[in-house]
Amino acid sequence: MGLSTDAIHAGVRPDPTTGSVMTPIYQTSTYVYESPGRHLGYDYARTINPTRSALEENLKVLEGGRAAYAFASGMAAISAVMTLLKAGDHVVVSRNVYGGTYRLFARVLEDYGLTFSYVDTSSIEAVEAALRTNTRMVYVETPTNPIMILTDIAAIAALCRARRLISVVDNTFLTPCLQRPLDLGAEIVVHSTTKYLNGHSDSVGGAVILARDEQAERIKFVQNSVGAILSPFDSWLVLRGIKTLPLRMRAHDENGLRVARFLEGHRGVERVLYPGLPSHPQRALALRQTRGSGGMISFYLKSSEAAERFFRPLTLCALAESLGGIETLICQPSTMTHASVPEPDRRAMGLTDSLVRISVGCEDVQDILDDLERGLAAV
Ligand code: PLP
Repeated sequence: MGLSTDAIHAGVRPDPTTGSVMTPIYQTSTYVYESPGRHLGYDYARTINPTRSALEENLKVLEGGRAAYAFASGMAAISAVMTLLKAGDHVVVSRNVYGGTYRLFARVLEDYGLTFSYVDTSSIEAVEAALRTNTRMVYVETPTNPIMILTDIAAIAALCRARRLISVVDNTFLTPCLQRPLDLGAEIVVHSTTKYLNGHSDSVGGAVILARDEQAERIKFVQNSVGAILSPFDSWLVLRGIKTLPLRMRAHDENGLRVARFLEGHRGVERVLYPGLPSHPQRALALRQTRGSGGMISFYLKSSEAAERFFRPLTLCALAESLGGIETLICQPSTMTHASVPEPDRRAMGLTDSLVRISVGCEDVQDILDDLERGLAAV
């Protein structure tokens, strides 16, 4: 089936008790047994819930995996993946991963004996140079948030296969509509479903999709043992959101390119970071491994004072963290999404106060451009 058909139908079957076409929200914590030890496959709702199972089946199909598991947040999903490692293991990580991922690694997991090296994963040589005898995983976010650096997924996956390392890709920014890391050889995909998959800024969730059965079994075990599951209502919301994911991603991609071109042509803007523009240094890789660049754009204003003036007149673009909703959101990563990254690291990444990140929504693009023009006129 095509991706749009799968987005609507995968995992969704008429409910066996009523014939309900849409998957019901099974708002129950437990299920009746027929007799001691005998039940219909459902015993307790942390372990299994039909609404969550429908979403997990859908995600598995969309990413082309062997199994998928839904979690209470993107961070819970990433935490579950990290339980595949043991104290003493080392991980190579993309240098400017999402600030919360960095915080989990640097300020939680290091206390449990894991070590991390943050490298420019756009350079396969830099990744190879960072490998140690105890390296067990390469963790990649592509494009990175918010600097929009791409990593060659196929090259990283091949390196990991050769060295028996686990390859993980955070696919939150592009979704399976625009990038399918497992098809490129990666073993594990993680998502913050909070973003494009749910798409309506009204749910927090995460997912892990796996290409290998042994790892999938372990994540299923961890999902039940740790218990950071996605609720039935949130599972339903995400499943509902995904039905329009291909339509939305097309709109985000079209509007994204229009906004990126507008910004690049504006004299108030220093530089635009968007893989869909010919000026992006990795445009060739973008064309090779993605089917579009989506709605995430970062750009530098000419000074941090300019940034202060830029945000005030905006009326349509909401100044808010998060991304991937149908409405346009805009933020200053240095003081908002990435405030937890230490200042020297932020500077090394190019994450200055003059950097603005925009999650371009699905509104009429002219209205977005008019709003940005209002902000830029004040700069
Ligand atoms: N991965 C990326 C790329 C993100 O942008 C985020 C959140 O912004 C996360 C993971 C974490 O997801 P959540 O906020 O759902 O825990």
